[in-house]
Amino acid sequence: MLRTLAGVALVVAGVLLPTSAAGGDLPQLDAGVTREESLGRWPGVAPLVCVQDETAGFPVREAAADFRDLPVRLVVKDDCTHHGNVVRVVTRMAEDCCYSAWFKGERMEHDPELFASATIWLNVDQAYRHTPESWAAAIRHELGHAAGLGHGDGTTVMHPTGYTEVGHLTEGDRQAIADIYERSRAE
Ligand SMILES: [Zn+2]
Repeated sequence: MLRTLAGVALVVAGVLLPTSAAGGDLPQLDAGVTREESLGRWPGVAPLVCVQDETAGFPVREAAADFRDLPVRLVVKDDCTHHGNVVRVVTRMAEDCCYSAWFKGERMEHDPELFASATIWLNVDQAYRHTPESWAAAIRHELGHAAGLGHGDGTTVMHPTGYTEVGHLTEGDRQAIADIYERSRAE
């Protein structure tokens, strides 16, 4: 299903719950990363990335719909067997406090800027805190990482705790993704 992992470098980013829902102040992850900094990108100037939805019911397709008409094309399928660029979306139970979701990307051995594959985990242990809408926002945040975005401030769905208030991929987020692939076109 997934290609043999050539990558040696891993990147992990998670989302926390909004502080209001969590009932207290929570630390941010990757606080130094701005959305202007690329977390990584897929090979090519307009790559197709297959998002393999293994969640059986989470709003992955709704979340991915925000990413239409971008240089990196996210296509959600139940089975990405024949695709080269694959992001798995899976659920797991993880009783490690407050994280709702994680993104982990494996990098190409020959170019640590390039994703070889990636996984998004949704922490069902935190499901009691979520609505379908807030899950969709969390998945948009993680798909933002999969599209190459790092974390940003409270005006972007890439904020580690404010993503539910923003809710959707913003024009700024879309421009930041376009810029990542514009840079790859220039190389
Ligand atoms: Zn994140």
